[in-house]
Amino acid sequence: MPAAACLTSPQGPIAIRDMPHGAPGPGEVLVRIEACGVCHSDVMIAGLAKLPLAPLILGHEGIGVVEAVGEGVVHVAPGDRVGITYLASGCGACQACRTGRERYCTKQLNHGYTRHGLMTSSAVVAAQNLIRTPAALSAEQAAPLCCAGWTAMGAMREANLERGQLVAIFGFGGLGHLALQYARHFGLEAAVVDVSEEKLAFARALGASVAVHSDLARNTLLKQMGGADAAIVYTASAAAVPVAFSCLKRCGSLVLVGLTQDSCSFSVSEAVLKGVRIQGSYLGSRADLEAVFQLASQGVARPTVTTHALEEAPELIARLGRGEITGRAVVTFSS
Ligand SMILES: [Zn+2]
Ligand SMILES: [Zn+2]
Repeated sequence: MPAAACLTSPQGPIAIRDMPHGAPGPGEVLVRIEACGVCHSDVMIAGLAKLPLAPLILGHEGIGVVEAVGEGVVHVAPGDRVGITYLASGCGACQACRTGRERYCTKQLNHGYTRHGLMTSSAVVAAQNLIRTPAALSAEQAAPLCCAGWTAMGAMREANLERGQLVAIFGFGGLGHLALQYARHFGLEAAVVDVSEEKLAFARALGASVAVHSDLARNTLLKQMGGADAAIVYTASAAAVPVAFSCLKRCGSLVLVGLTQDSCSFSVSEAVLKGVRIQGSYLGSRADLEAVFQLASQGVARPTVTTHALEEAPELIARLGRGEITGRAVVTFSS
């Protein structure tokens, strides 16, 4: 019986439990999971007052090998190595689904939230949004691309920047450290903002020319550098949003990515008079997911990972919630 990292009840403890599953049904596949990254959304889901499933297997950035397919599955076959994301399935019929924005489907199901997730050695998952992964990437290098990389890229594209423009990356965790590499690849000038000196040092080591503490962000980005063309808030800290807003130049874009239940405020008149565009960005497009895998297999942008046993998952999620993980922590399963 496969062991899994489970949220045992709403806001309850996370524990390792044996969780049986059946054979794959229509539109589903059985996957032997090789690796699953730990994402800040796992922390958020663990804090929700209500859960659609309990106990719930967490995890939504997984890599595995297809072992069996259910009825009607044609685009993957046993033996294929696939990436599995938060987006399990959409309705396929609504306007969002029909225009390549399945991630905004109101009937979507999500791994590790409304369906069981991937922090388990074996899982039955929806086949609809699986992506084949390049052989050149190890499972632990590929797993973080399925959420952190994908979401970082999706927001970078939503910011709609041109070569040479300045992007401010707020939060240098799993998403931010990939976003910096994408920004450099696109020829953007990138400034990193975080509250952790350790993460700022990590940003400089990854080639950030500007990496500043949040307290100094407005002075550095707006006053010294003339303001950011876009500020992308990857951190789940609502306190970062007004700081990011204050760093924008006129007609700049504020892109919100990190999920939090908290609220924030900024000046409406300042937003109006500066012509600020405010954009939410969730996951990415299918093309964005393919792009992050391609850039990683070419060695252009790869996650910095630490690998861990399943038994460490509860502690990893707690440490992530405290901002103590540098790069991405990935749970790996030996075959
Ligand atoms: Zn995630
Ligand atoms: Zn839909």
